[in-house]
Amino acid sequence: MTPAWHKLIGKIIEECALNKIQFIFSGEEKVRLPNETEEAGTSGFFDGTERTLAIGNHDGWKRTLIHEYCHMKQWIDETSWFSNEAEKDNARFWDYLENKEELNKEELLKIITTMVSCERDCETRVLEFAKLYPELKINKRFYTKSANAYLMFYGFLLKYNKWYTDISPSSCPELLIMMPSKRLISIEEALNPPDKYIKRCLKYCFASIRIKTDND
Ligand SMILES: [Zn+2]
Repeated sequence: MTPAWHKLIGKIIEECALNKIQFIFSGEEKVRLPNETEEAGTSGFFDGTERTLAIGNHDGWKRTLIHEYCHMKQWIDETSWFSNEAEKDNARFWDYLENKEELNKEELLKIITTMVSCERDCETRVLEFAKLYPELKINKRFYTKSANAYLMFYGFLLKYNKWYTDISPSSCPELLIMMPSKRLISIEEALNPPDKYIKRCLKYCFASIRIKTDND
C-alpha cells in the first residue's frame, strides 16, 4: 500500500469515528451484511442503518473502498437515496430478485431508476475525489469505463431481473471496451443498454448459468 492510500485510510477511519460509523477492513475476501447468510457476501458495502462501512480483502479493494466511502458521503450529506422510503424500496428490490416480493413494471422502473441515480451520483463523487487527490493515482479513464459498465447493468436488470453470478460487469473486459472513458453515461443510456451489452453480459457475467432470452 502506498503512503497516499495509507493516509486516505487514516482519514476514512477519522471520518467514520466522527459519524459513529463502524469501519471494517476485513482479512477475508468477502464481507457480509447483517442479514446475509454465511455463503453469500460482497466485496464491500456501506450500510446506513447499521452504520457500517466494510471492505473485503481482494484485488479490487481500492475501487471498492473509494466507491463505498462515497456512498457513506451521500449518507452523511443526507441525500434522498438514504431516506427511509428509499431503504424500504431497496429491500423490496432485493427480495424481488429472490422471488420473495412482487413488483409491477412501474414500481420496478421507479426503484431501478432511483438505484442507478444513486450509483451515478456516487461515481461522480469518486471521480471528483480522484481529481482532488492525484497522489492516489486512480486511473480515471479506467475507473470511468468500469463505472459505466456497472451503471448499464441496471438497464440489464430492468429486463432480466437477475444479479450477475460470475464476473462483475464493472470488471468484465468485454464490457469495459464498449464504454466511454471520458464521461459517465446518462441515466437514460444506462437504462437502455444496446443488444451488444446484453449479449456480452449474458455470456460473461452469467457464464455458469443459462438465462432465457428473447431469442429463445
Ligand atoms: Zn454503489
